[in-house]
Amino acid sequence: MCCRWICRAVLVLLLTGSTGRLFSQEARYVFLFIGDGMGLAQVQAADLWLRSQGGPGLCFVDFPVQGFVATHSASHTVTDSAAAGTALAAGVKTTNGTLGLDTAGRSVVTIAEQARLAGCRVGIATSVAVNHATPAAFYAHCPERESYYRIGLDALRAGFDLYAGAGLKEVQPSDSLGARSLYDLFSEAGYRIVRGGNSSDAVALGGERMLFVQPEEAPNPSSLTPAIDRTGNELTLPEITRTCIDFLGTATNSAPPAPFFLMVEGGIVDWLCHANDTASVVAETVDFAASVSLAADFYRRYPEHTLIVVTADHETGGLSVGKGEHSTLLLDVLGRQSASVIGLTGRLKTLRRRFSGTSVPWSEVRAVVCEACGFQGAQALTPDEEEQLFRRYETSFTESDETAVRSLYYAVEPVADCAMRIVSRRAGFAWGSGAHTAAPVPVYVLGAGSEYFRDLRDNTDIPRVIRRVAGYGSR
Ligand SMILES: [Zn+2]
Repeated sequence: MCCRWICRAVLVLLLTGSTGRLFSQEARYVFLFIGDGMGLAQVQAADLWLRSQGGPGLCFVDFPVQGFVATHSASHTVTDSAAAGTALAAGVKTTNGTLGLDTAGRSVVTIAEQARLAGCRVGIATSVAVNHATPAAFYAHCPERESYYRIGLDALRAGFDLYAGAGLKEVQPSDSLGARSLYDLFSEAGYRIVRGGNSSDAVALGGERMLFVQPEEAPNPSSLTPAIDRTGNELTLPEITRTCIDFLGTATNSAPPAPFFLMVEGGIVDWLCHANDTASVVAETVDFAASVSLAADFYRRYPEHTLIVVTADHETGGLSVGKGEHSTLLLDVLGRQSASVIGLTGRLKTLRRRFSGTSVPWSEVRAVVCEACGFQGAQALTPDEEEQLFRRYETSFTESDETAVRSLYYAVEPVADCAMRIVSRRAGFAWGSGAHTAAPVPVYVLGAGSEYFRDLRDNTDIPRVIRRVAGYGSR
């Protein structure tokens, strides 16, 4: 009892801070949601689109505390996800490409590691690979973000309770063929490996620690299927989030759940922003918000002890909501698109295979594009748009084959790239580039300690405040 009183007193002293005020609520359950590449324009586009459909908009845009943070790294005005992830995880600016190390190469302590030391359960979740940059920033200490195998080993070393996502990238090391598979190593370390399934099944399997990923037959181990391309059976980010909450936050014997820290990344938002695919970015952001709303449900059960922070690591693409010739956005145009740029690329590649050795007829390409983008009926292609698409068809299907427009993560068919530009232009959106920008990103906060997030200026402020309101480093 005496020891508990001393700990409590220390905690009070630490939480009192320089203002002399006592934190009235302690955040026992901390959710940090990171929309990768999700700048204010991406949030606004998705929110406007939902509202145009008669819905209530994105759940987090009404959170009571909001602000903006700068995202520059120590080395560049425009950050990458590794440096931005390190800033959000540890409160330290570092060099682009670097995970969990400062500019001198020293390891920095992340809030996830501190949460674990403080006795909290810890989960790291994403819609892309578990060892991709943003999730890795919370457990890895590595000078190269592409060293996926080594980063996977760091996940084991960190020993968090739960890792969830599309899968693991570079399961075998690229440089020494004899080394063990990351999945085998996770299994030997006591992780129950669950591939897909619904959350109650996954949690019912029990086990102290879990690696939750897509089924083996999933088409891409590095990414869930983009929300717009789903046909119904694929694992989704909301399902992953529900599994994490059930795994970490289930009450036992009428006692409240043990404290936990959960980071959830919407990683595909960034990939689709790199490809300037507006409708798919909107669908992905809506899906990300559906994950946040599950945390909001948890908050309603434990409002005094739950903190939810939603932010982005950086903006991607320089998205502009409004494009000059439109005073009104034509948001219905986005709803007519039924495949992402990568989904449409896949359908065009199927056509190439079907017509192997001979040119694919324009009529076939045109039909696939019009079906995927909703260029039908009153929304049929204008002669100008048809000309643009036909020119891209000629250069990529008849004058050469397999020409791809490369965005950072996707090799995109030029015709698909052109079709996405037509959709964006019709709807009233424009993109400045296929890369990250230096735009400040929004922060939305709900719950215990949210009032201490009012004066944020820099992305490194976010973990600093989480540390204080969650008492990490003081328990
Ligand atoms: Zn990116």
